[in-house]
Amino acid sequence: MSVLPEPIIDFHVHLFPDRLFDAIWRYFQDRIGLNVLYRLYYRECVDYLRAQGVGTIVYSNYAHKEGLTRVLNEWNRRVLDEIPNLFCFAPYHPDDGDALAMAEAIIDHPRILGFKLQLVVQQLSPCDNRLYPLYELLIAKKKRLLIHVGTGPVKRSDIIGVHPFRKVLRRFPELQANIPHMGGLEFEEFGELLSLYPSVYLDTAFSFVPGTPYRFPLGNDFLEAYKNRILYGSDFPNMFHSRETEIEHLLDMRLSSDFYSRVFRENGLTLLPTG
Ligand SMILES: [Zn+2]
Repeated sequence: MSVLPEPIIDFHVHLFPDRLFDAIWRYFQDRIGLNVLYRLYYRECVDYLRAQGVGTIVYSNYAHKEGLTRVLNEWNRRVLDEIPNLFCFAPYHPDDGDALAMAEAIIDHPRILGFKLQLVVQQLSPCDNRLYPLYELLIAKKKRLLIHVGTGPVKRSDIIGVHPFRKVLRRFPELQANIPHMGGLEFEEFGELLSLYPSVYLDTAFSFVPGTPYRFPLGNDFLEAYKNRILYGSDFPNMFHSRETEIEHLLDMRLSSDFYSRVFRENGLTLLPTG
């Protein structure tokens, strides 16, 4: 019998319009030499995950350049109308002249959990002060930020990483943030933030694949100590290993049944709107 709850919640999925998925998959293939295994468009992604026992799906998309956010937000509203039990972190790009106005226009949507920043792709520092109004808006509205601010997988630590993010949290200690990939590659340093800032969570995406340099190195004691603050996320469909590999590896680690029920479901529920 599986120790996983049924259904599970996946807190880190990407859904994009078809032509953007095509462009992202091509980019991974041609520029980085990585083959995305699941080349599924958004409806197929949802169907696939639901068939695998995922109930609630939290997805995001990001704007890699200015001028995309409006289109993505229109698309996000349609997709949220079309598909139940789906929640979204919406895109934000400070180069858009009306970035904050667009954020204000969508933030009250009941299934928009907040915003996604992909700082490696967007080539932004979390301390870029054009992001401060966004942080203020999120705090005022009690919504969250999904922020890829870790140095993995490319070690661009000149503008991103835990050092600049600490500065953000010192200034905005109430910022509710999900840090993907367990904070990789600065696992220990991001882990320390959990004890200092109760609104910060980590997600598991990509961090429990055996034999990769991104494999979470801190061991079961850390995971048990912070089991209230970790969310299962897959990064589906942009994965280079099978989705099951990572789940099986987490199960093989023989963590407590409480760990699995919290990380794969209960913690996610506490971050979703009620009612
Ligand atoms: Zn991701």
